Amino acid sequence: MIASRDIINLLLNPTKLKVTCFMCFKESNDLLNIYENSIYTASPSRSIRLASVIREIFPIQKIYLQHACQQCVDLILNIYTHLRRKKYIEEGEIKQRQL
Ligand SMILES: [Zn+2]
Repeated sequence: MIASRDIINLLLNPTKLKVTCFMCFKESNDLLNIYENSIYTASPSRSIRLASVIREIFPIQKIYLQHACQQCVDLILNIYTHLRRKKYIEEGEIKQRQL
């Protein structure tokens, strides 16, 4: 857990912003920029930026940092896939009831 004081110090230090994961706050030089990296959806011609995925999963969460570690990206994609599958199934069930 990161303390509020640590978050303030992090936000005031531009060099640390680029090497800190927005989700787990681990420092690494091997982070993905969530605004530049995309994932491909079931439709090969359609991709979605990681930042959009994160906003969909955490709609009220402010995102102050722009980078994520691979472990957090994997976790985000697992959550996103689960939620999309659930929504797809629920929409299918609603269509079945309407027939
Ligand atoms: Zn992380």
